Amino acid sequence: MIKPLNVFVSRGLSHHPDKRQVEQSVTDLLALDPRVKVTMIPNLYDLRPDGDAYSQLKELDEDFIVISWMFQRAAHWILDRNGVLGQTGEVEFGAEEDDDADELEDDILEEEEKQRVIETLDIPDRSIYCLQFQHPSEPQHYVDEVVRIAESSLMQWISGTPDQDKLDRFLNAEQRHEPELSAIEEKAGRRWYPVIDFSRCTNCMECIDFCLFGVYGVDNQETILVEQPDNCRKGCPACSRVCPENAIVFPQHKSPAIAGAPAETGGLKIDLSLLFGAPDAQEVAARERDEQLMLAGRAPVEESGNANGSPAISMEPRQVQNVGADKDDLDHLIDGLDSLDL
Ligand code: SF4
Ligand code: SF4
Repeated sequence: MIKPLNVFVSRGLSHHPDKRQVEQSVTDLLALDPRVKVTMIPNLYDLRPDGDAYSQLKELDEDFIVISWMFQRAAHWILDRNGVLGQTGEVEFGAEEDDDADELEDDILEEEEKQRVIETLDIPDRSIYCLQFQHPSEPQHYVDEVVRIAESSLMQWISGTPDQDKLDRFLNAEQRHEPELSAIEEKAGRRWYPVIDFSRCTNCMECIDFCLFGVYGVDNQETILVEQPDNCRKGCPACSRVCPENAIVFPQHKSPAIAGAPAETGGLKIDLSLLFGAPDAQEVAARERDEQLMLAGRAPVEESGNANGSPAISMEPRQVQNVGADKDDLDHLIDGLDSLDL
């Protein structure tokens, strides 16, 4: 019998008993299925890259599944920034709700041919599938989707050319696999940092210019990265509003658009061009950044010219001429998003 597909269940931060029940029901059902091996881990976003959970994740070179309370792209790029790389696995769970959103996102992304950072990355040819917990939900639906992925993953592997290592594991696999469930207990304090979605990022550097807390940096290829994640100010989402591509995600933010939602959530269609990188979004972001500077005991940009005492930092975004927005619409959208609680 073939080696089972790994499924990692990332526990959420909420103590809501109904949410805990969703996690437990899905985990218990999955553990009964011999096609998968289930491991419970603390909240993926809070984990340290050198901890036990990431060590185990980094050892895998095959497809796997993560189920978390975060949106798919948020979970995928959290894994990526922590050194767990793979192609985005296609998930059908809940896909019917997102058809219009996909079209809207495609329109926005196709309005201009831009090079995305993902095109320059060396990503291994295995798939990582990120499913999102929802409450309320039917646990069997998760199991059905996991089984669908397990079968499709196996079919792709068989029709490809497995390397010797994979072939050995396949041939030497136990004849009968018993259901498996394990847990990684790891201390994980709550964290807050931006996650870059490199499938959208164009490496424009707006974010590194904007943030005055030294969170962003560049690698030796001059590609943007989140260099000092823990320098980020708890609760501050300012740079996500400045990014013209909606590439910066704060997975725990209460507004779905900032937390990495597709372009339509809860019946509210979100025009990303109004929310991210637009002139009014810049003003909101500047206010939020000034608040954080003052909380940190530093002077706001508008009073001092610059928090570091050097020449004023212009709030004119590099790409402001490419976008436009009506202030009332933006205010309305942000109010609507803020009233949603995931
Ligand atoms: S502002 Fe957005 S698109 Fe530009 S480099 Fe930063 S994350 Fe990438
Ligand atoms: S959220 Fe605020 S502190 Fe954090 S990286 Fe963005 S601008 Fe900097």
